[in-house]
Amino acid sequence: MTTIACLDLEGVLVPEIWIAFAERTGIPELRLTTRDISDYDELMTHRLRILEEHGLRLPDIQEVIAGLEPLPGAASFIAWLRERFQVVILSDTFYQFAEPLMVQLGRPTLFCHRLEVASDGRITDYKLRMADQKRQAIRAFHQLNFRCIASGDSYNDTNMLSQADAGILFCPPDNVVAEFPQFPVATDYDQMRELFTEAAERLVARG
Ligand SMILES: [Mg+2]
Repeated sequence: MTTIACLDLEGVLVPEIWIAFAERTGIPELRLTTRDISDYDELMTHRLRILEEHGLRLPDIQEVIAGLEPLPGAASFIAWLRERFQVVILSDTFYQFAEPLMVQLGRPTLFCHRLEVASDGRITDYKLRMADQKRQAIRAFHQLNFRCIASGDSYNDTNMLSQADAGILFCPPDNVVAEFPQFPVATDYDQMRELFTEAAERLVARG
């Protein structure tokens, strides 16, 4: 059976976009991520309110993202992975944010969400393509007779990791490691290569 490698984006392949943006703009309230607030709607509502308060628009954020690079070694890791698996990125970011970084990663398939933007560039709302999309994607791949090995770094990945045939945490915070001890942890891309290889071998042996 063919195996799909399902990867989170921020914290696994690229830096946390909102943290980078908080550093450039000097707005510490924008530093919070899914690592701090596990309720995604609460987190996004908070972010959009801060942007509104500071009069920040989509082009301001895109300007920062255009200056970001994937994490060191991420592009070659993706290339390695694509030689061995079909690769799909499952992310809770937005297409409008991810574009410059996806170019640098060789444009793997990306399933994420979309921002609603007014004609003057103000972000007026965000639209989740669907709730719990990471887990739903794995379910759908299973229905299509694919196996899935998934990797992510934080709370919003744990449903995906649980649903997959094998789950791997990449550089997670301590609280996620403590809450989800069933998942092996990789702290660099060499360990990721090893854990993906081991998981694939286990799945083949399982038949
Ligand atoms: Mg992440």
